[in-house]
Amino acid sequence: MKIRDLYLQNSLSKKKEKFEPITEGYVGLYVCGPTVYSDVHLGNVRTFVSFDVMYRFLLYLGYKVRYVRNITDVGHLLDDGEDRVSKGARLEKLEPMEIVQKYTNGFHEMMRIFNTKKPSIEPRATQHIIEQIEMVKQILDNGYAYVVDGSVYFDTLKFQEEKKSYGELSGRVIEELFTETRSDLKKQDQKKHPSDFAIWMKADPEHLMKWPSPWSEGFPGWHLECSVMSTKYLGKKFDIHGGGNDLKFPHHENEIAQNVGACDCSPCNVWLHTNMLLMNGKKMSKSDGNTISPDELFTGDSPHVSRGYSPMVVKFFMLQSHYSSTLDLTDEALKASEKGYKRLMEAIKTLDALTQDSKSNTLDNEINSALDEFMTHMCDDFNTPRAIASLFDLVTKINSLKEGHLDVNQISSACFENLKKSFPEYITEVLGLLNENELVSNDSALNGVMELVLELRQEARSRKDWDTADKIRDGLFKNKIVVKDGKEGSSWSFN
Ligand code: AMP
Ligand code: ZN
Repeated sequence: MKIRDLYLQNSLSKKKEKFEPITEGYVGLYVCGPTVYSDVHLGNVRTFVSFDVMYRFLLYLGYKVRYVRNITDVGHLLDDGEDRVSKGARLEKLEPMEIVQKYTNGFHEMMRIFNTKKPSIEPRATQHIIEQIEMVKQILDNGYAYVVDGSVYFDTLKFQEEKKSYGELSGRVIEELFTETRSDLKKQDQKKHPSDFAIWMKADPEHLMKWPSPWSEGFPGWHLECSVMSTKYLGKKFDIHGGGNDLKFPHHENEIAQNVGACDCSPCNVWLHTNMLLMNGKKMSKSDGNTISPDELFTGDSPHVSRGYSPMVVKFFMLQSHYSSTLDLTDEALKASEKGYKRLMEAIKTLDALTQDSKSNTLDNEINSALDEFMTHMCDDFNTPRAIASLFDLVTKINSLKEGHLDVNQISSACFENLKKSFPEYITEVLGLLNENELVSNDSALNGVMELVLELRQEARSRKDWDTADKIRDGLFKNKIVVKDGKEGSSWSFN
């Protein structure tokens, strides 16, 4: 397949640019992964689902993609200076690496539930301490860092004087950063300039995760891992770097500074940033308690929703807005998405059942241009809402073909074949939406058992035996079955 022109909104140049891969036919893609100290929330999921669709689409266009998505397991500090993973370990009375494993497993499971593809490489920060120490040395050798009492700080002022690029991505002005507080505030007095940031931190004696280095027993600054791991797996210069837009500053700005400081090379050509998932108009965030977990949304066990919504409905809801727009999670919007998702899945079945005996090609242009529109919108900075709108144009056509308002025999056999192949491919391969009902309805024994289980649960509910009702629901959930309670009774689907 000829690779089409793809246009991307580059957060660095602030322009929509034609994508030119560094090596023809290949894409190096780096996405900042989760900090694994607690369960992922839906906001995180939105970001990773967005990048999954980009990855899928690049593959669909025919690129060979090396997709690197890291796991942050050290150095991402809270505002009070405590490492997130250490805090998780302290609260749960587990080893830091147990916390890391537990929440990495949970993250993988959630990514599976949302039918996202695994990255090509998933490196962890703690597996790259040696490389991080090497980069600190390089930055020191180049004169863009200084050591104070075993900690190493990036010298933003010197960097700015010589390279003039600090703040280019985030639009922050270095002087304004004088007044801002940073998460390593405890060590603020060691810095020459308030916007300087730690690339290596000397650990306090009680600190759990620390490694020997030429400067102290300590740990790397958070931003360093992504500079190091992207360089290691994708080279000094690669194609696309992504993350949520809350990472633009300080994380990505400092990442660029480190790469330029170490290798005199800005790490990538294109920066892509996803926008935030909101709830009730406010960023969904753990620290503000403004979150709904995916599980709560699937089961409907949350004051924010009237009932549960299946993973594919939630995913479809996310894809109905552009990755760079904020998205507000509301019950109404989810209800509408459920209808849309079902309509789309129904159309796949309808198309599959359609047969023809081609007599002419008078409808070919109409069909081809509707199919083409999907690709055009996806090539326009992965515009999923518009691409989905083109899918609904096709749904209307497919339904008209079924009902005879359009004559299926007026499509050439080649065009008909292309429609039968491309329409479901766009939905399942590019958008990564699965037909949940099909998974369920194929198993008649399971359907029978579930009918009985839901009946028993309903009986428990009628006698107000909530413990039994919840036990059944939670037990099913552990077995990947989600029960949804609605006005018309309970229904179930696979997680
Ligand atoms: P973290 O685990 O906090 O490092 O975040 C993992 C990813 O989720 C990052 O790319 C964040 O930018 C992204 N993220 C965090 N909160 C939200 C949100 N409310 N909506 C969308 N993405 C988010
Ligand atoms: Zn990162």
